[in-house]
Amino acid sequence: MKKSLFIIAMAVLVLSSCEKKTEETDNGLFTPAIEDFDYVVDRFADIEILRYRVPGIENLSLQQQEMLYYLSEAALCGRDIIYDQNCRYNLAIRTLLESVYTMEDIDTTSADYKAMEVYLKRVWASNGIHHHYSGMKFEPGFSQAWFETQINQLPFEKLPIYSEGISRDELFAEILPVIFDSTVMAVRKNQTEGADLLLTSACNYYGEGISQAEAEAFYSAMRTEGDETPVSYGLNSRLVRRDGILVEDVYKTDGLYGSAMSKIVYWLEKAEKVCENDAQRNALQKMISFYRTGDLKEFDEYAILWLKDTESLIDYVCGYTETYGDPLGYKANWEAVINFKDVEATKRTEKISGNAQWFEDHSPVDSMYKKEKCKGVTAKVITAAMMGGDNYPMSALGINLPNADWIRATYGSKSVSIDNIAEAYAQSVKSSGFNHEFVVDAKTEELLSKYKEITDNLHTDLHECLGHGSGKLAPGVSPDALGKYHAVIEEARADLFGLYYVADPKLVELGLLPDTNAYMAQYYSYLMNGLMTQTTRIKLGDNIEQTHMRNRQLIGKWVLEHSAADNAVELIVRDGKHYLVVNDYTVLRQRFGELLREIQRIKSTGDYNAARDLVENYSIRIDQDIHREILARYATLDMAPYKGFINPVLTGHFDNDGKFTGLSISYDENFVNQHLRYSRDYSFLKK
Ligand code: ZN
Repeated sequence: MKKSLFIIAMAVLVLSSCEKKTEETDNGLFTPAIEDFDYVVDRFADIEILRYRVPGIENLSLQQQEMLYYLSEAALCGRDIIYDQNCRYNLAIRTLLESVYTMEDIDTTSADYKAMEVYLKRVWASNGIHHHYSGMKFEPGFSQAWFETQINQLPFEKLPIYSEGISRDELFAEILPVIFDSTVMAVRKNQTEGADLLLTSACNYYGEGISQAEAEAFYSAMRTEGDETPVSYGLNSRLVRRDGILVEDVYKTDGLYGSAMSKIVYWLEKAEKVCENDAQRNALQKMISFYRTGDLKEFDEYAILWLKDTESLIDYVCGYTETYGDPLGYKANWEAVINFKDVEATKRTEKISGNAQWFEDHSPVDSMYKKEKCKGVTAKVITAAMMGGDNYPMSALGINLPNADWIRATYGSKSVSIDNIAEAYAQSVKSSGFNHEFVVDAKTEELLSKYKEITDNLHTDLHECLGHGSGKLAPGVSPDALGKYHAVIEEARADLFGLYYVADPKLVELGLLPDTNAYMAQYYSYLMNGLMTQTTRIKLGDNIEQTHMRNRQLIGKWVLEHSAADNAVELIVRDGKHYLVVNDYTVLRQRFGELLREIQRIKSTGDYNAARDLVENYSIRIDQDIHREILARYATLDMAPYKGFINPVLTGHFDNDGKFTGLSISYDENFVNQHLRYSRDYSFLKK
């Protein structure tokens, strides 16, 4: 799953300054050709920053351009929220770093300055001081003494605002350990078994000193037995202690994050005036109302209206959506993806969802756990035009919303694949030598270069459009029965559904794959990733923490272990290097089917012990010798394991009466300038 949203409004007077009246100096709307486009724009630490094209933007009507522009501005106005959600010191630290980074007479050639630049870029790339993927705090490569010398020279107005009322010394005494003491706020979201997950996590969804047990008790007391349409309790608030009592500070225009949310609402209200149709307008109006009231009932009403908006070209996620950032899974991070439908490519997902019942009926799952009637699987391919909050600079490739189970069961869900982001990923890896290093032979390499991209897209579609929506629970089984193992099992289930069907002749029949061998590229690359190459993102000695990485290794290791007798899949060693060999693709497909059947049974019956055994035995630990070898081989390639993105610059043009006259797009901005500009123009929270 992946996302949803919202907004707010207040002071109308200040807002006219947001309105940009730019001269007609830009390029208008155009899309550069793939061959002429430089995808890679920056590289530091373990990250490569890419830019993405926005093909088709030139085909939008003037009214659609106008709506896209307003929504894009809304997407940028929430930037500070995610920084603050990730850690309460993030905004202050970002401000300090940027102030030093842009000091006039600073020696930009010193080793300390250069190391601070890398640190600042990492902060921008992760929306804070913790690694976006591992959650571990960054180590500063610059000295505290050097940094103190610099910040002592900063004028007052360049310091974080929240220093009002406290002295410079007090401010620094509070902030510096957060940067330099590795034991302070060491991890953003702790998942260690047995620890108090709130007291040991640096994220900012709960006030200081609130324990996991207190928070869990608070939210379980909110639930009403037998409520079939529960709201998403706790989704849009910080739980704090006030006068000894636990209360929620709700995210709304006149509440927590209100100053940023009011700006977002300002732009959403403009967008609402230029909607394409009533369904789109109804949903947007409800979202605006939710930004104002913070009433979670309205959030559900919005989600249902948003699901009904299927005809519009322009669409958006712009609000509090996914709950991955909260160790307890209640609180949603703010994020935005402003997009429009790729009409041509959507024919692909329409074919898949149009046949949802066929796929359900023919799956290897026990018929007791199949849906008699699959409903509401709408699926489309989109082109992202602007990303914000938790979906920027690191972006998802697919989104499947809303998250509330009862809404999904009654009204279905929207599932999207973001093809222009997938394109940027694929193009950046193409010439890297990666496959040459890790793929077992030239024949398989050729298979991958021919079919990997198309089958990757298809696998994502199958995962999002069908996988998550397939199957049903046995009567009386709670959707929460698998507890903390739910997420990995659920992602494995969706992946396996996709793996099983990507090999089905039905896809060739539907015109989605060119031939019946193409799927082999997906099988090989999926297992190679899950068994070996995804660990290039992990430090030697560490376990796998991230949900999707866990489910991929779970599938890979299970299949490998269960192929010991017939050798359908094996790992061989050649010249001291491990390689994956697939000897029998037909048997491999059956094996994916077997595991899918078992995992569906586990979910349907709520078999906690079986879920625990699979996750604990297969998904977490990495073979140390192989890991060491993979990291060494990877290091010879000079590649970055993570990819982030910069947005294009979208500029709205207006005539003297304030009437919108057109949109222009530019791809020229670099990573540093984009972030400095965002910090200058879209900073709405106290820091
Ligand atoms: Zn998923």
